[in-house]
Amino acid sequence: MNRWVLALIAVALIAVLILVPDYGEQDSTTQEVGQDVATQTPSATTIAQIDDARIIDADNEPNSWLAYGRDYQEQRFSPLTDVNKDSVADLGLAWSKTLTTKFALEATPIMVDGILFFSSPFSVVHAADAKTGAEVWTYDPQVPKDFMRKACCGPVSRGVAVYKGRVYVATLDGRLVAINATDGTQIWEVDTIIDRTRNYSITGAPRAARGKIYIGNGGAEFGVRGYVTAYDADSGEQAWRFYTVPGNPAMPFEHPEMEMAAETWKGGEWWEIGGGGTVWNSIVYDPDFNNVYLGVGNGAPWTRAIRSPGGGDNLFLASIVALDADTGVMKWYYQTTPGDNWDYTAVQDMMLADMEVDGQQRKVLMQAPKNGFFYVIDRSNGELLRANPYVTTTWATHVDMDTGRPVENPETDYSNEPQWILPGPLGGHNWQAMSYNADTGIVYFPAQENPLLYAMNEEFKATGLFKRNPGTMNLGIELANIAQLMGEHIDKAPAAKGYLKAFNPLTGEDLWSVEHPHYWNGGVMASKGGLVFQGDAMGKFKAYDADDGKVLWGFDAFASILGPPMSYSVDGEQYVVVLTGMGGGDHFGGHTTDTAAIKYGNFARVLAFKLGGSQTISAPTILDRTIPAQPELTASTEDVTRGNHLYHQVCAICHGALVRSAGAIPDLRFMTPGRHEAFNQIVVDGILASTGMASFADILTNIDSERIRQYVISRALEDQAAAD
Ligand code: CA
Repeated sequence: MNRWVLALIAVALIAVLILVPDYGEQDSTTQEVGQDVATQTPSATTIAQIDDARIIDADNEPNSWLAYGRDYQEQRFSPLTDVNKDSVADLGLAWSKTLTTKFALEATPIMVDGILFFSSPFSVVHAADAKTGAEVWTYDPQVPKDFMRKACCGPVSRGVAVYKGRVYVATLDGRLVAINATDGTQIWEVDTIIDRTRNYSITGAPRAARGKIYIGNGGAEFGVRGYVTAYDADSGEQAWRFYTVPGNPAMPFEHPEMEMAAETWKGGEWWEIGGGGTVWNSIVYDPDFNNVYLGVGNGAPWTRAIRSPGGGDNLFLASIVALDADTGVMKWYYQTTPGDNWDYTAVQDMMLADMEVDGQQRKVLMQAPKNGFFYVIDRSNGELLRANPYVTTTWATHVDMDTGRPVENPETDYSNEPQWILPGPLGGHNWQAMSYNADTGIVYFPAQENPLLYAMNEEFKATGLFKRNPGTMNLGIELANIAQLMGEHIDKAPAAKGYLKAFNPLTGEDLWSVEHPHYWNGGVMASKGGLVFQGDAMGKFKAYDADDGKVLWGFDAFASILGPPMSYSVDGEQYVVVLTGMGGGDHFGGHTTDTAAIKYGNFARVLAFKLGGSQTISAPTILDRTIPAQPELTASTEDVTRGNHLYHQVCAICHGALVRSAGAIPDLRFMTPGRHEAFNQIVVDGILASTGMASFADILTNIDSERIRQYVISRALEDQAAAD
């Protein structure tokens, strides 16, 4: 295979590994670990007093950024205008802050009272002076580093909620913590996880409204059952819990919606594997209807033939579910992908807006979920108003607007033969933020066309049996042999592409579209200054003209960027802030494009820009990408193949398909002789657990580990030979 073929395989493989989060069952407990903030720390009542009314009226204080998506509508549109088309050329770095982590920063900071609140990997919370970046306080919830093994996509954290003098963070290991916004001390924490025998994790930002904190979780690929819980913001007491998929039908239904959902699951024992439906990213509060909308994830396993062999829609997978914010009782739902078979989560960011649709004023919800269709839904009743494709979709021909259902394409049915399908499991759009300009009706967001070769799990095809492996992923598609299968079908593989799109959600047309060198890029913020800000995989942070996509300004951050920009103003100066680092879906590695993370390494920085800013970042050393001399390849061909299969089942999710990391996780082709010598101690004995590399002794023997090492050597030698 030549280089580009390998690259294509790798890209598609990465896509495989794009997983996502989910949940399980038992009551959470509240532990008081501190005094009430109001009595113990009087000053706590003076800062960060964000409440529902302030977030609803966020336009009245454009200098602040009060919530995850700026306000409850989550349009991420900055009303500030000092930085505009005419002035942006003068934008420069005001300050920067480099964190010690090697993993991605994905958070949207919240800015209030001159302080930025944001989270970093392993759910560490930072309060920093918004004008200088100086630390105010840091709170570390002490997540065990080896917990990273239980999370699909790195130890990332997408942010915090700030509410009534407190900062709320959900930790990677599933706790919800209330912190005093003034001094960073912990007030209470609760365990949100219902079943600690399953690999639940949390990377999403909690949302706050109605005196409650709402939080979901992830883990679908590992085999969990999804749910969302509302907690009393003051006490941490559980208010309600809504499950997104049914459990074992032999057990009582937790709430009436589960009885309805269970009728759409047929045959199989999905509850043994988990079912999926995790709400790992988007939860949006709607003050117009007192609703909370849940963006629900994919099925576990991905393949419906295993999960629900009798067919059925499998509610509420891949759905947008509207709940009463106070009671958790369902009002309506819309399922984007009935009978999900592709990891098509509907967890992507949701935006609320008021707009005229076909001559009628509507209160709508917008989402571009993974499946490639952009939905506009009436949030008073869940009526589907639009479902235009925003990227190439080969799994379905279109959405039937009469039934509201996608029409699946029989030509890409992968029940019997492997099929390249668009979008792949990374989605046409993933968690990276989008932005809406209500004045023009245009949505700006990062889109991608990134295929996967979907193939049924070979063991299931041969035996009709699929057993959950609690220690690793349970996808239902073929993982072990995927490298070979992709090689066999590489001639039909669509190329991976990435875009920044200016999209009209009502007509389905692009106002404009800019193609990026790499598919996995940063979130987006549009502004009243006529600009669209986005960082990219190549390490560039740019301002585009919102009208035509022309680049008006750029800054070389020397760091791949996924995080969403945000903006605020302090002492009369507007700042634009973005956080850097490669991770999420792409730390699975393999794409050979020269991203900043590959070229320089992964840097987690907070970058704050203002007009006249003159700080600089020195260019990092360009990494030597020459693969070093390798130890002797001593294993038989059969053992190398075994190592290949084990590697792609267990290791590739972090270290990258075909042993090519994307920068956030060590690239094993570059291991030192010492690492090779200690390989079994690392993999089996867990001597590097404190760095995040947990022991895999529960699923890998020393013999397995050595086979994997031999496969790593074989891959390094292949790439060495190709480079010569
Ligand atoms: Ca997933």
